Amino acid sequence: MTGWETRNGVHYLRTPGGIVRARAVGVATGGYTSQSLHPQLKNRLFPILSNSIVTRVLTPAEIEACNFRTHQVITDTRILRHYYRLMPDGRLQIGSRSAITGNDAPQDQYRQKLVEDMYRKFPALRGIQVDYSWWGWVDVSHDMMPRITQPDPAQSIYYAMGYGGNGVMYSAQAGKRLAALIAGKGASLPPLPIFGSALPFPNVREMVESQMFAPFRRFGQRFLYHWYHLKDEVI
Ligand SMILES: Cc1cc2nc3c(=O)[nH]c(=O)nc-3n(C[C@H](O)[C@H](O)[C@H](O)COP(=O)(O)OP(=O)(O)OC[C@H]3O[C@@H](n4cnc5c(N)ncnc54)[C@H](O)[C@@H]3O)c2cc1C
Repeated sequence: MTGWETRNGVHYLRTPGGIVRARAVGVATGGYTSQSLHPQLKNRLFPILSNSIVTRVLTPAEIEACNFRTHQVITDTRILRHYYRLMPDGRLQIGSRSAITGNDAPQDQYRQKLVEDMYRKFPALRGIQVDYSWWGWVDVSHDMMPRITQPDPAQSIYYAMGYGGNGVMYSAQAGKRLAALIAGKGASLPPLPIFGSALPFPNVREMVESQMFAPFRRFGQRFLYHWYHLKDEVI
C-alpha cells in the first residue's frame, strides 16, 4: 500500500495495482510500518533489527556436549538477549539483536557476530556449518506492550502491533481478535485493558527528540547498544 486517503468515512488505499476502497482498515505491518503510513501510527513504534541462524543437524554427541535437555525455547538474561532452541530435527536455532540500520543489516559481520556468540555459549559447536540465516525488523512499542485495538472510536482504523519480537505465536491470536473487532464483535471479547489502549508515544523527551531529531534516534540506539554490551560483558 503506497497511499491512504479517507473521505466521508471511506478509506482509499493506493496500491501498485489500483485503489482499494474500504469501510475499515486493519493494520498489521509490524516493524515494517512506515512513518508516513498513517498519522495514528507515526512515532508509535521503534523498529529494531533482529537476526537468526540455524546450524546443521547436531550429532547426539554434540547435543550431549551442549547439555541440551529440552526443545523448549530458551533466552539468556542479558539486556541484549540471545534466544535459542534445539529444533525438533536436532538443529540449533539462535538469534539476537543485529545492526542498527537497515543499510548495515546485510553486512556479514552481524551474522558472524552471532556465530561467534554461539561458539562462546556452546564451545562444542565451534566451526559447525550454519545452514540458514536471516534478519528483519521487529516492532517494539514504547512501553514494550503489544496492542490490538481501534485507537480512535471516530475512525474505522484498527491495528494489531507492538509485539516486540515475540509475535510468531501471538500474532495468530491477535489477528483473530483484530478480525472480531473489525466485524463489530468487540463487545463479546474478553477484556484486555492494556492491549486495548492506543500505542503510546515515547515520553516527552523522546517525543521531542524523535519529532525534531528523528535522524539522530539511531545514534542514541547505537550508544545504548554499546552501554548494554558493557553492562552485559563488563559491569
Ligand atoms: C530474525 C528474527 C527472528 C525472530 N524470532 C522470533 C521468535 O523466535 N519468536 C517470535 O515470537 N517472534 C520472532 N520474531 C518476531 C516475529 O517475526 C514478529 O513479531 C512477527 O513476524 C510479527 O508479525 P506481523 O504479522 O505483525 O508482522 P510481519 O511479519 O513483520 O509482517 C508485516 C507485513 O506488513 C507488510 N507491510 C508493511 N508495510 C506495508 C504497506 N504499506 N503495504 C502493504 N504491506 C505492508 C510487510 O511487507 C510485511 O509482510 C523474529 C523476527 C526476526 C526478524
